[in-house]
Amino acid sequence: MDDCIFCKIARGEIPSKKIYEDEHVFAFHDINPIAPVHFLIIPKAHVPSLYECEPENEAALGRVLALTGRLAREQGATDGFRSIINTGRVGRQEVYHVHVHVIGGPDVLPGMLKR
Ligand code: AMP
Ligand code: ZN
Repeated sequence: MDDCIFCKIARGEIPSKKIYEDEHVFAFHDINPIAPVHFLIIPKAHVPSLYECEPENEAALGRVLALTGRLAREQGATDGFRSIINTGRVGRQEVYHVHVHVIGGPDVLPGMLKR
């Protein structure tokens, strides 16, 4: 997608603090971190949200998830982390290119959601 900010980041057209890249996946620090470790992992293919996943995206999305632990550890989150995928209006998704937030340490995170 031409006007998608995360596609542009994955293509290197706008700068990011990259932490990992391979053929299908790109990972970079969140520009507005909410914890000492806060980075995003995205498929390079433009998948707008989890509502729009196609079978052809399964391998890249699987790799995105499979990388969370390794990259979290490398970034210093060695005692746990939280991975979040916001989807759509209710999920308060802001950037419509699927991304996994990896958020961690050293402090214990707040509970999941307030009741
Ligand atoms: P959301 O779509 O609500 O799951 O969150 C989008 C996330 O992308 C937010 O945490 C932003 O801080 C982050 N973000 C937006 N633009 C950039 C950028 N240019 N580089 C890194 N992170 C970004
Ligand atoms: Zn995109």
